[in-house]
Amino acid sequence: MPFDGSPRLSRRERDAARGRLAKMRAEAMLGLMCAVIRMAREERIIVTGLNAEGPFRGAIRAALCDQGWRWQQADDVAMHLVEVALNILQVRRPSWAEGQQAWTGTLIVRDAQCRNCGVPLAPRQVHFCCGSCRSRWWDAFNRQAA
Ligand SMILES: [Zn+2]
Repeated sequence: MPFDGSPRLSRRERDAARGRLAKMRAEAMLGLMCAVIRMAREERIIVTGLNAEGPFRGAIRAALCDQGWRWQQADDVAMHLVEVALNILQVRRPSWAEGQQAWTGTLIVRDAQCRNCGVPLAPRQVHFCCGSCRSRWWDAFNRQAA
């Protein structure tokens, strides 16, 4: 019920009470998000649509909370809307393995023993004693990360 005591609900309050976003509003938000992400990528303001994920999710959630939505409900809807926008734009989320520093090859910390079989490494060896151990270790790593 509004603060003035009137029993009549505004459109926003009805949306909040229903616990879901009106379809037209959702479609308008999706169109806007897709346009902004496309433009930001073209202008090289962002590298990937994923850069917009957090800001959009937070902004939509905050707007819905301002309209009377419960935080969790607002966050669920915001997350879903952003996910749909990223799917429309065919944004691919990197795998867990691709998100690790070792994936980029920029982190070089020598191991004392082979990561796969545990034999002591020669000075020129970094993580593995041989190519076979490297393959087996990365196969297991990627299986675990998938
Ligand atoms: Zn080995």
